[in-house]
Amino acid sequence: MPRNLTIALAICTAILIMAVDRLAAMPAEAKLPPLQAHPLPATLAQWQDTTKSGDYFSEVKPTEMGYLVWSQLPVKVYVQKQEESAATNSERSPKWIEAVLQAVQEWSVYLPLEVVNSPDRADIKIWRSRPPLRATLNPSTGRFELPRVRSAETLYEFYLRKFPNSATVLSQRFNIQISPNQAPDYILPSARHELGHALGIWGHSPLETDSLYFAQVRHPAPISSRDINTLKRIYEQPTRIGWSLPES
Ligand SMILES: [Zn+2]
Repeated sequence: MPRNLTIALAICTAILIMAVDRLAAMPAEAKLPPLQAHPLPATLAQWQDTTKSGDYFSEVKPTEMGYLVWSQLPVKVYVQKQEESAATNSERSPKWIEAVLQAVQEWSVYLPLEVVNSPDRADIKIWRSRPPLRATLNPSTGRFELPRVRSAETLYEFYLRKFPNSATVLSQRFNIQISPNQAPDYILPSARHELGHALGIWGHSPLETDSLYFAQVRHPAPISSRDINTLKRIYEQPTRIGWSLPES
């Protein structure tokens, strides 16, 4: 029997936190890239949903920089191998690593992903740790409240990336935390769900047959046609991310 369902239901909440301070460091006269769509990645262009299952694109909201689209492929993913202090095999949690790598594998059918060994070069970093509790203000009571325990969380930030050809590109990177303190059967769906956010699905599905369903359920869904239909629509949208700053 999996753990207490209340905890199981308290899966990730993708929190909208952005490191806007990095952008504030730009010269005042610097202009953001205009909104433009990138070419659709070949993997998504080839995707055809013969079942016509629809999507939940309307649940995905663009950020102030536009949709969270990756244009430099493959996306580099770092998966934490062990905790800093872990000395023994049991602490290395092979089940956690296997589950997370499997989630990477599953998504790489739809978008090219490459697992890298160092967090320094990674676009998406996946950490084996429990997300911190964050107090949130309850507008109806005016009090700060601690949310229920979360098993996973994804955060993104924007930064300016300098390329050798001297172009400066508005870029994104993600940090995902996935708790090792959950039933092994939930680690894979957790990782699958959070990776879906980091690949651009910044929203939740209202249907529990999608991997981006807003809550964790007893029988988590694999990546669904609706997930991919949604991803494809996102990658057709204009964004400022991945484009060079205009010359001033
Ligand atoms: Zn989520």
